[in-house]
Amino acid sequence: MTKTITISNNIDYKEIKESAYDFLDKYSNGRLPINLLDIINKIDNLHLIKYTRFARDRKLKLKEVCELLQSEDGALWYQTATDTYILLYNDTITNKERIRFTVAHELGHYVLKHNEKTEKTILSRYNLTEDEYNTFEKEANFFAKHLLVPFPVLGNYSLFFHQMDARFIRIVFQVSYSVANYVIGNLKSMSSFGLVKDGHDVENRFAKYIDTSQSTRICQTCYSKINRNSNYCHICSTEQRKGSSTLDAYLDNREREEERMRYYKYPLDEDGFPNSCPRCGNEELNGCVFCNVCGVYVRNICLGDCGDNYDVWGHSVPIQEQLANGCGKSLAGNSRYCPDCGGKSSYFFQGLLKNWDIEKKESEGLPF
Ligand SMILES: [Zn+2]
Ligand SMILES: [Zn+2]
Ligand SMILES: [Zn+2]
Ligand SMILES: [Zn+2]
Repeated sequence: MTKTITISNNIDYKEIKESAYDFLDKYSNGRLPINLLDIINKIDNLHLIKYTRFARDRKLKLKEVCELLQSEDGALWYQTATDTYILLYNDTITNKERIRFTVAHELGHYVLKHNEKTEKTILSRYNLTEDEYNTFEKEANFFAKHLLVPFPVLGNYSLFFHQMDARFIRIVFQVSYSVANYVIGNLKSMSSFGLVKDGHDVENRFAKYIDTSQSTRICQTCYSKINRNSNYCHICSTEQRKGSSTLDAYLDNREREEERMRYYKYPLDEDGFPNSCPRCGNEELNGCVFCNVCGVYVRNICLGDCGDNYDVWGHSVPIQEQLANGCGKSLAGNSRYCPDCGGKSSYFFQGLLKNWDIEKKESEGLPF
């Protein structure tokens, strides 16, 4: 036991943490959870192979693969002749978080060059000294935790919510309870030193993703993605309660994200102008607000509370009479309503956009 402690004291945890962050900074796509497959695809001399595939190719049973590689979870196989690495993982394990941890752990061996240091093609407890083996395993586990939950990135969430819990970490970073609890423990000891977060350039890579996830929400009625500060949903006009920034509200919203609906959107510039007429396709608008071919009002702006586009006699109300009624805000190419005042949009008023529920049902292929 004493021996192990001495070894673990020799591990430079700070350096391993830095190497995990540097590695992410170089290869990550800046989204969460960390996409390990995407990272591996970017590395030329590293290949990912499933145990079942490996077994089939070599006509082995799965049990024999585990014995050969001396692990039920995964292994990193260094092929000296070609200087390539094969990262093998047991895809028959049903726990997704466990597989993610295994792959991150093997990436740790790769980045920390454990095979090269010992000139071993496969690292195992049989071809290494006990001290070497234990040290490498600790280092790879430590690397994996910080690769999957980079503290500089997590820190930006903690700063935003003024709190953090294991459920949040588990869902957003897709890690097991034990990794999430390890992170919470670490955060506690950091804050006892007065630290809120770790700083590293890697956080910039995730800044856009975090910013978008914090500034948008999914409408509970029509499931479109809308700005968190909207008073009304611009697709269905549902009044929005002011977003509470709690961890639970964030996670509830994230669940809805999976059912997110994308409504057809005309491409418009920031003043609500299209390149071509949304009704007839006329490309020569020459900056006019009315199409000189079909007469449609080509901008999408707020017309205010204008009710139906038919008067009591069933005559369609000319849009000219409505233009001055709204707040005039330029709207997105799929906005039926104004997010500020809830007024009707000029595109919706003119029938260029369908009712949101009809479009949603059509996209789901349901009869209506
Ligand atoms: Zn290992
Ligand atoms: Zn909505
Ligand atoms: Zn036209
Ligand atoms: Zn408005």
